[in-house]
Amino acid sequence: MTGHDWWHDAGLRTAVAVGEGWRLFQDLYLQTGYDAELLAATRRARLAQALTRAARTQHFAPLLPHGETSEREADSVLAALPVLEKDVLRNAPDTLATGLVAPWDELRVHTSGTTGEPVWIAHDNSKLTEATAANLRMLEAYGLRPGMRIIRATADLRHGLVDYEPMPYFGGAMALRINVSTASAHDGAFLSRLCAEFRPDILWGQPLEILLAALRQNDGTLTLPSFRAVLTHGDSMDPQAREAIAGAFDCPHHDLYGLQEFGRVGWECPVSRGTYHIDEERVAVSREEDGQVLLSSLTNTAMSLLRYRPGDAVELSSGPCPCGRPHLRIAGIEGRRRALIVEADGRLVNIKPARLILEEAPLHRWQVRQPEAGRLEVLIVPRVAEDGEELAGRLRAALGEAMSLSALTVRPVELAELATPSGKAPHFRLRATQEALSNALGGGSSSW
Ligand SMILES: [Zn+2]
Repeated sequence: MTGHDWWHDAGLRTAVAVGEGWRLFQDLYLQTGYDAELLAATRRARLAQALTRAARTQHFAPLLPHGETSEREADSVLAALPVLEKDVLRNAPDTLATGLVAPWDELRVHTSGTTGEPVWIAHDNSKLTEATAANLRMLEAYGLRPGMRIIRATADLRHGLVDYEPMPYFGGAMALRINVSTASAHDGAFLSRLCAEFRPDILWGQPLEILLAALRQNDGTLTLPSFRAVLTHGDSMDPQAREAIAGAFDCPHHDLYGLQEFGRVGWECPVSRGTYHIDEERVAVSREEDGQVLLSSLTNTAMSLLRYRPGDAVELSSGPCPCGRPHLRIAGIEGRRRALIVEADGRLVNIKPARLILEEAPLHRWQVRQPEAGRLEVLIVPRVAEDGEELAGRLRAALGEAMSLSALTVRPVELAELATPSGKAPHFRLRATQEALSNALGGGSSSW
């Protein structure tokens, strides 16, 4: 785009991208909201371009020997591609690079990988512009306006008690982040005043963080003002948690579906609850026979992610939506469902710090179990040639520093010991789940 150093100034680049995103909203995303033919034509054209670009990558080149894909054949060419597993992105991201975006213009998103290796995804500016346009459309559908004020609930111990954060791609919103995990009774008056003065429109967080915010309100730590809407993202919603959130905050609740590799890809229809419209201008969705969702990016010119399997099971909702939008819908999302860790003093905290420590360790596999509040058992399967006992000692020290627990054991085990009766080996087996928090909110006992 430019060779000037200032191009890498985040503020400047943001302003440029938001401007382009607004134009894209007006010229495309607004129209496709009611124009099914325009949506189909946009999708087809962008898919053909995405497949043509993919033919330049090391990974897809042998699968797309003809190079250019026409719009007419785009859907069948895509359907014939094999599934792209996460391992390719983890182990050989370079093989997915198109070479079309100069490193100078690339936006690299780093995410934590479950094997401990950092995962990166290269994007071009469309990551920002398309997100801006898609968010504006979604906000309009929810009856919200640009310049909203958002309270972001967090339970991550790495976050301070409060912080402000601009959200330029989200309708130029401003967020006030409140740590609902570390907030103590002593902070209550200050936080409640801050929230009231902020005059928020929206409460936003992961389902667990929103449930925790409601619990903190119930236990008197925090008084939250009323909101125009609650937004959740990041975990599949438990039906009980939906009810608990609706009961705790007397306003509409909208859940968003996305993943780090793609950003947000779907948003709950305001009319047909529990179903999520896919932003088909930038993502193609299909479903395997076993129910697993496959996602293809149509707009990323830097890296080709086609028929990527994130590991979530969904249903495709066929038939027209009562809201009139032509965008495909998914429903019944069965994906990630995290829980919180209960510290010695009963504080509920996000698993993220523990996850980061374990992901960085040379482990083949690991599992964190919480047999009771304050107590954690960590089972590790070290990689070959690692000294299990020495590693266990190091992890015990790091985890003990990150959280305040009354008992913490770290133990090297055989892989088989991690399996549940259904044969899965989840990373976390915890007690403070969406279901448990919802029960506690409904007046039940805190069963963690
Ligand atoms: Zn709809």
